[in-house]
Amino acid sequence: MDSRFGVIVRSVAAALPSGMTTNFLRVPARGLVHLSRIDPRSTAGVSVPSRDDEALKEVAEQRLKENRDTLQKLQYRLWAENKRSLLVVMQGMDTSGKDGVVRHVIAGMNPEGCKVTSFKKPSEIELDHDFLWRIHQQCPAKGEIAVFNRSHYEDVLVVRVHGLVPEPVWRARYETINAFEKSLADSGTTIVKLFLHISKAEQKERLLARLADPEKNWKFNEGDIAERKKWASYQRAYEEAIAKCNTPYAPWHIIPADRKWYRNWAVSEILVKTLEAMDPKPPKGTFTAGQFKF
Ligand code: AMP
Ligand code: MG
Repeated sequence: MDSRFGVIVRSVAAALPSGMTTNFLRVPARGLVHLSRIDPRSTAGVSVPSRDDEALKEVAEQRLKENRDTLQKLQYRLWAENKRSLLVVMQGMDTSGKDGVVRHVIAGMNPEGCKVTSFKKPSEIELDHDFLWRIHQQCPAKGEIAVFNRSHYEDVLVVRVHGLVPEPVWRARYETINAFEKSLADSGTTIVKLFLHISKAEQKERLLARLADPEKNWKFNEGDIAERKKWASYQRAYEEAIAKCNTPYAPWHIIPADRKWYRNWAVSEILVKTLEAMDPKPPKGTFTAGQFKF
């Protein structure tokens, strides 16, 4: 809730040791996750004296713009440094805004060093391999940022909710995921995981808006209605996945996402703080202009 996030937000300002990610909206290290206790309309971290929505929105949009500029600069340095990488894992129910984050936050970065992968239903070839096979191939190389729009977490979410494999198989995956993420972290990848948290009521509004808008109608998928009926099972699956795979080397963040402008700002804030804490440094040049005749 707001007050809980309020406490976390204050710690953003505190200096973070190098290599650590931000605490902003970060899921506390231990314990269960109760999504129903986290307000999807929260605007924690964006405050103005009046708290009216329009004023908050204006502040958040201005700060998002500044954060996008900062992200560009930090990405350039990460690329130049060419030693470490950043992996952003994004999950959320249908219409939670995963594509919106890509368009409004990620799109400002240089595509040469930043790639987005959307993980869909696995192909037959992918299903013939272990569930991490297709994931590992898309992980960022040194200097790169990779963003996952859905991810290996689908293998403990949709797969669990639809019983696509027996329970002991998906249950064993929490540990497999933690070990996989640990090995990425050990080889220089900073991992940030984001759950875009929307309410069921907001999803209804967004699905209706998709149906009503000829520009968005193509995004409507009959399957989304069937998935919506399993809302409670998905929330439970998310709670367990977030709690079991919330590690110091790959922490989860829960982004209140009913307000799109808040969601975009909050994600940009987490990415800026994470890259600032990584503090990438371009290698020192060894040449000077005086050495050369032009
Ligand atoms: P969208 O994100 O709307 O393009 O939809 C992608 C679809 O692929 C969603 O319905 C996901 O649940 C599904 N999907 C992604 N990964 C998996 C997976 N590992 N197993 C089954 N379905 C998946
Ligand atoms: Mg969809």
